[in-house]
Amino acid sequence: MSLLSATSVTAHYGDFQALFGINFAMAAGETVAIIGSNGAGKSTFLRALTGLRPTTGQNIQFDGALIAGLPADAIHKRGLAMVPEGRRLFPSLTVEENLQIGAAGGRAGHWTLDAVYDLFPDLRDKRRNGGTELSGGQQQMVAIGRALMSNPKLLLCDEISLGLSPKVIKDIYAAVPRIQAAGTSLIVVEQDVGQALAVADRIYCFMEGRVSLTGTPATVTRAEISQAYFGLN
Ligand code: ATP
Repeated sequence: MSLLSATSVTAHYGDFQALFGINFAMAAGETVAIIGSNGAGKSTFLRALTGLRPTTGQNIQFDGALIAGLPADAIHKRGLAMVPEGRRLFPSLTVEENLQIGAAGGRAGHWTLDAVYDLFPDLRDKRRNGGTELSGGQQQMVAIGRALMSNPKLLLCDEISLGLSPKVIKDIYAAVPRIQAAGTSLIVVEQDVGQALAVADRIYCFMEGRVSLTGTPATVTRAEISQAYFGLN
């Protein structure tokens, strides 16, 4: 069943055009990775989906309803939540308060404080700590947990491995199958191609605001990815 379908999505920052007619579709239950170099438009596309970046004239259907043009809080309420690049925790609040804020305006479902603490046991131990007392990996866990607390149908993760050590990245990605098992679909923006291929059912590569390649990890070749990622022959 189609969960998300976006047709001809464009986005601008002033006179600068960041997206040039992105077509994107995914089914419920899928995990889709978006790869591409710095500035390819990956974050802008996620912001367009969530209503944070104004977009015009395009058609974005989510879970059977047209969401293009709706305010961000209305899109969130329909079941679309984002883990933003850079985590953006509330530094003066505790782990638990950050997580509770994530539930506001969301839906009821599997993801409660206990379910998030079961997913990331480190956070249970740190629940009274402030955001600044956490490691980078723990902060990322809070950011993911906070988004899950709204019980999204689709979780958008923007560069969740950025700045983390390989061991911590492995721990964070170990949570993905459990998130999938709870019935949540995912879009993962990832600069690490190997990580993207390992986690995704399908990938989209963006280059200069356009989709340069789509396929499954089993069918795309390294040469095709290099070409689509860097424009190299
Ligand atoms: P990154 O990995 O660097 O986040 P990205 O693929 O997510 O890359 P975007 O952040 O979507 O790319 O940026 C796409 C283009 O839009 C880039 O050329 C970027 O410089 C530009 N851009 C992004 N945000 C803004 C902004 N707030 N104002 C002006 N231009 C912007």
